Amino acid sequence: MPSNPAPVLTMKAELTAEQLAHFKARLQEQARTLSAQDSELRARLAAEESVTANTFVAGIEGAMAAEADDEVIALLHHEQTELAATQQALERIESGDYGQCTECGDPIGLARLEVLPEAHVCVGCQDMLEHRKGR
Ligand SMILES: [Zn+2]
Repeated sequence: MPSNPAPVLTMKAELTAEQLAHFKARLQEQARTLSAQDSELRARLAAEESVTANTFVAGIEGAMAAEADDEVIALLHHEQTELAATQQALERIESGDYGQCTECGDPIGLARLEVLPEAHVCVGCQDMLEHRKGR
């Protein structure tokens, strides 16, 4: 009779309260950073729009401003996607689903969450989703 049972490894690989607190703090920090970037990008966009709208800016300078706009809009779009993913991850922490793949239900894995705390799918499903998008 083993008197010392091995550490319990549940099939769902639920995260410990400490691990959840760690990721929650990281996600909250990430959400703050992204919100700050959001404000900054919007301010840049507003400034560039006023430059573009200026009648004295024409030709190559106007084209450059328009190009800069596209870049800021792309950044803004990326940042909003990240922020939404971060907020959804925080919601999953609250609901107790954090760390599980939303596609197949497998554990996402601590190593992946350390790199990408907002991850909602495992590596396998991520690959599959990206293929489905037809990149
Ligand atoms: Zn999966």
